Formats: sequence, structure tokens, C-alpha cells
Amino acid sequence: MSGQRALQHWIGGAEAAGDGQERIDVVNPATNAVIADAPAGTAADVDRAVAAAQRALPQWSAVPASERAAAIARIADGIKGTIDSFASTVTSEMGSPISYAKVMQAELPSQVVSSFAAVADGFTWEEELGNALVVREPIGVVGAITPWNAPLYQTVAKVAPALLAGCTVVLKPSVATPLTAALFAEVTAAAGIPAGVFNVVYGAGSVVGEAIAGHQGIDMVSFTGSTGAGKQVSIAATNTVKRVALELGGKSANVILDDADLQRAVDIGLEFAWLNGGQTCAAWTRMLVPAHRHDEIVELAVAAAASYGVGDPTDPATRIGPMSSTAQQGRVSRYIERGIADGATVAFGGSGPVEGLEHGAYVRPTIFANVAPDAVIAQEEIFGPVLSVIPYADEDEAVAIANNSIYGLGGAVFGEPDHALAVAKRMRTGQVIVNGGEFNLTAPFGGYKQSGNGRELGRTGVEEFLELKAIHR
Ligand code: NAD
Repeated sequence: MSGQRALQHWIGGAEAAGDGQERIDVVNPATNAVIADAPAGTAADVDRAVAAAQRALPQWSAVPASERAAAIARIADGIKGTIDSFASTVTSEMGSPISYAKVMQAELPSQVVSSFAAVADGFTWEEELGNALVVREPIGVVGAITPWNAPLYQTVAKVAPALLAGCTVVLKPSVATPLTAALFAEVTAAAGIPAGVFNVVYGAGSVVGEAIAGHQGIDMVSFTGSTGAGKQVSIAATNTVKRVALELGGKSANVILDDADLQRAVDIGLEFAWLNGGQTCAAWTRMLVPAHRHDEIVELAVAAAASYGVGDPTDPATRIGPMSSTAQQGRVSRYIERGIADGATVAFGGSGPVEGLEHGAYVRPTIFANVAPDAVIAQEEIFGPVLSVIPYADEDEAVAIANNSIYGLGGAVFGEPDHALAVAKRMRTGQVIVNGGEFNLTAPFGGYKQSGNGRELGRTGVEEFLELKAIHR
């Protein structure tokens, strides 16, 4: 298509043409129109970006931490000054509804960057341990591989702490969301980040992603994405013995206890299941409810679901936009059909196209009732607006069902506060939100089990990018 934006890699502080000729289209899932294209990067492109990052490393790691923190604060300001552009870019690339995109896809990432600038204050870079001096040093060149569902957030959750630690970065964004990465590269340049400290190589996971994971010149790979791809990254990285930090999929349980405020538990529960069209890693896709209150809770959920309008993601009233792509639409639709075939009750939504929205990647938000804990829809990550309500007989069974998953990323408990806290402590998951408590951006974020092995955000998020050196005197 003539006139559409043609991206180039970002290497050594400037746009750089790719080694190959192949391009990858960027498609707006609300219309299925091609809106831009990006280079299908190659291993040679990764080599060039790694060389730029290696060249920039000695100087950047020698910059005092307070100055690196000031640079990160300028990045935060740059994002804050570009909120509307980031929000509309994410909306056009992956269909996130604009009202949500503004808050969660643009403002939240700016707050994450600010929070890292603040972590620098009082950070312990060196400490005395008897006769040893323990020094924290940047790990080196970091490969950052990110998914499409929260493209700016996932980028800054890696890039800001890596830069603060004194590392340099080669980013590979998802093929679905390169425009957000390009806008972020502009923000880093405007913030005065020196050439080569931050680089972007676009392209497929199987080519660019694997080249990053297996690269001898990359000291650490920080990966966010599906559990399957995370395993491939680990395999590709093995021979280099680099550090591999993985933030992977989830199938989080929202445990509603007998003594919970049911209306609140259901309202917040549905919101956290369907945020971003259900395309969030920690989505509370399993609602665990006391069996004797199952029907009452399903009724409340169905009533709440009526306020989730599906439609054009650029309309501020839209709560659920299209899925991020027709591939994702197909995947979610197949899971809805599988749930029906396996005998779960469709309480809301169901399979089939959304009337009047056949031109985009839309699905019908769906609530399944009476779902068996081992059903496919209760075990596999669907990554769409599909909620499974699962009855439990008693609290021990609730905990057992919550933990009956290969994943352990997020979760929630609603109930009398001390009671809910006690149940939260029994959940094998990296974070639990009790009674809708506010998400703390400085607390460690990451997964148990096959949800990953890393921890992002706050002080722990910076420590991921540091080596420890002991100097014995
Ligand atoms: P994905 O795994 O398909 O892709 C993620 C990234 O990895 C992309 O950049 C992709 O190109 C790359 N990739 C794919 N195969 C690769 C390989 N073999 N080697 C190297 N790189 C490879 O995931 P997605 O569909 O983009 O995103 C959705 C997934 O991400 C969901 O599973 C979701 O739960 C997960 N996610 C996790 C978190 C978290 O913090 N734990 C946050 C957001 C999303």
C-alpha cells in the first residue's frame, strides 16, 4: 500500500535498513487494514545491533547511577508528553480500547518508568560484608523480547531497569506492535540516551528472537511471552549460559470466599478477567465460587457482563475491542467452541461472529458456568474475554483448584480480610490481589511454575540486570 509508514530498525541511535528485503505488515485488527510495515530482521541485523550495544556499554555503565536515573526520568517525561500518541498507536496496532489504552497502555508505563527513576534513590550498589566488598555491576548487553498485549509496558518494564543498572539493550518487539517500539525509540533519543544504548530489531521470534537468545555477545535475555516460546528461548540460550529471565503465561484464579462481598468480588473479578479483551497475562480467567452460591454468582456476572460493550476500539465507550489479530480471534473462538463441546454451560456470549463487526477480529465475550477444574478451558491460557466459573465444595478444595495449574502468575481472593490473606498465602502464584487491593508498582512481579522465573518492577526488577562481585580484602 503506498503512503503507509515503513519502519526501519533502530541501531546505534539512528534508523537502519535491514539486511534482507522482506517486510512484515502491521494490521489494524479492528478493520484488518494494513497500516504500516516493518523489516523482517535477520541474524545479521541482530549482529549489528549487538555490536552497537557492546560499543556503547563501557561508557554507559560508567555514567554515575544518579545520571542514569535522571535520563530515565526524562524518558518518563517523554512518555507523559506523548500519552495520546502512544494510546492511539497501541489501539491501532492491537485493538486495545482507547479509554483503557490511555490509562493502562500509556499512563501506567510512564509511571513504571518514573518508579524506576525513584528506585535509584538509596539503591545499594556496594555493601561491606566483613572483609568483603560486595559490588553490584551491570550484567552487560541485554536482549529484551516482548509480546503485543501491553507493548509499551512490557518494553519499559525491561528497558528502564536495564538502563538504570548500566546495561545496554537490544529490543525485539512483537511483529504485531512495532509502531509502539518505534515511538519509544524516538522518546529515548529525545531523552538524550546515547547512541547504541538502546536498539530495536524488528522481526519474527523464530529468527530475530532466537538469534538474540543464542547470541554470544548478549549477556542476558529478558523474555515476556507465551510459555511455549519461553521454553524455546531457554533452549536457544543454553550454550551461551546467559541469564534467562522469563515472564510467561497464566491462568489465574479468583477465589471468592463465602464471606466475600459478592457484588464487589464479581464486578472486580469480571473486570480483571476481561481487561484488554482478556489479553492480559495475569487475567483472572477462573472464578472459583462456593458451590451453594454458584447460581447467584453467575447471575451477578451475567448482569455485570451486559455493560461490556464490544466495538470500535477508537470509541471511548468501548470496553472490549477486537482481538489483536485474526489469528488470535481464531484461537479464542476455538476455545469457546471447545468449552461448549466439553459440556460447560454458556451463561453469556458464546461462539459465532459479533453481529455488525464481521470486518474485524472480534469475538463474543463469554462466561461459562459449572466448568470442571480439569476442563481444557480451565487449564489452558485462552487470552481472550472468556471467564470460567468453577464451583468448589470447601476452602481446601478451592485452594487445590486454584493451584491445579501448570501456571502460577496472578490470582485474587475476596473475603473477610484476615481470612482472605490466609487463603492468599496458600496460593502458589507470584502475586495475589486481596479484595481488589491497589497494584503496587514497586513490588516484585513474576510467576511461579511455568509462568516464569524472573521478577520485574521495583528494586527486584533492577537487581535482575546486575551481577554480584565479591572483593575480598
Ligand atoms: P509469544 O510467545 O508468541 O511472543 C512473545 C515474543 O516472543 C514475541 O516478540 C515473539 O516474536 C517472540 N518469540 C516467539 N517465538 C520465539 C522464539 N522461538 N524465540 C525467541 N523469541 C520468540 O507471545 P504473544 O502472543 O506475543 O503474547 C502473549 C503471551 O505473552 C501470553 O502467553 C501471555 O500470558 C504472555 N505474557 C506474559 C506476561 C508476564 O509478565 N508474565 C506479560 C504479558 C504477556
